[in-house]
Amino acid sequence: MSTDRLVATFIDLVRIDSPSGLEAALAGRCAAELEAMGFSIHFDASAALTGSNTGNLIAELPGTAPGAPVLLLSAHLDCVEPCRGVEPVVTDGVISSAGNTVLGADDKAGIAAIFEGVRRTIEAGSVRGDIRVILTVAEECGLRGAKALDPADAAADLCLVLDADGDPGGIVVGAPTHYTFTAAFTGAASHAGVAPERGRSALLMAARAIDAMQLGRLDAHTTANVGTIEGGTATNVVPARVTLAGECRSLDAHRIDEVRAAMDAAMKEAAASLDGEVEVVWTKEYEAFHTPEDSAAIAVMRDACADAGVTPRLFATGGGSDGSIFAERGTPTVVLSCGMRSVHSTEETLSVAELEALTRLVSASIVRFAGSRR
Ligand SMILES: [Zn+2]
Repeated sequence: MSTDRLVATFIDLVRIDSPSGLEAALAGRCAAELEAMGFSIHFDASAALTGSNTGNLIAELPGTAPGAPVLLLSAHLDCVEPCRGVEPVVTDGVISSAGNTVLGADDKAGIAAIFEGVRRTIEAGSVRGDIRVILTVAEECGLRGAKALDPADAAADLCLVLDADGDPGGIVVGAPTHYTFTAAFTGAASHAGVAPERGRSALLMAARAIDAMQLGRLDAHTTANVGTIEGGTATNVVPARVTLAGECRSLDAHRIDEVRAAMDAAMKEAAASLDGEVEVVWTKEYEAFHTPEDSAAIAVMRDACADAGVTPRLFATGGGSDGSIFAERGTPTVVLSCGMRSVHSTEETLSVAELEALTRLVSASIVRFAGSRR
């Protein structure tokens, strides 16, 4: 039965180690699987940019209808640590790890559902449009693989990224603009017991900056955080150098600029108040995306959900995914909930029934999308 085949594929995939940057073994296994289904495979030249030991895997299956639309199905190959030596355990229809690693359903549930969903539609003779599968590297460390994709590979008529948690039927239609920063505060070192007057504490500057910032959930669409602080040398030295790193995100393009400006000003004012300096470097990780509820993409997904027997649930998220990058490149994109729970922890689980529902949704999306413009 094909649910057994689906589960066997998932179990095989989670047993192959694929921490970020070391995805080659899993990529090789996935290439063989897709080739056996009739896809032509290539790896892009992104390894030099991402630092991974392989490029992104790009697989093409030309459709039978000339000029048919291109459906892009995407998931990521890498897992967060601890993810080496995963021993999957199936108990009462729920798959977990043996306990000392993540399971890796993030994102191997997505990969397994793509493989089985495509396989079923090929076996049923239902593939008409072109299908492209992209499996990216280094998603978990800043969407590096997706950011390095060739624009021609990322362009499609509809992109489904299988990489959200929650019940299948969940459809992410919006994600925030995301900025990160590093800030290097500079003061002056001096002996803390002999001549503290000659010191200017970079640590105190950083503390004042943090205290002056609004952090946490700022409104329904906006968040901010300072994530790390590093610096200082010894208890008896006024610290001359301290580095902060943090971020802010918002679904609202205007609001994100306000928040970023306020965080920036808090750091500069704190440094100036103690006669120090700060150099702040901001990086835009990705741009917000919003797929309108009345768009063709959502119409297709609602129909596909009905065919697959799952309830569609549209929502915006505060998290990023490769979907943000595909959307930024101009491809209509949604991110699908894959049934995985407690991701990025050793408690991570995936229910077989939800993996099966996700797979039905993939098959239904292929059939609906291929049929939608004939
Ligand atoms: Zn993921």
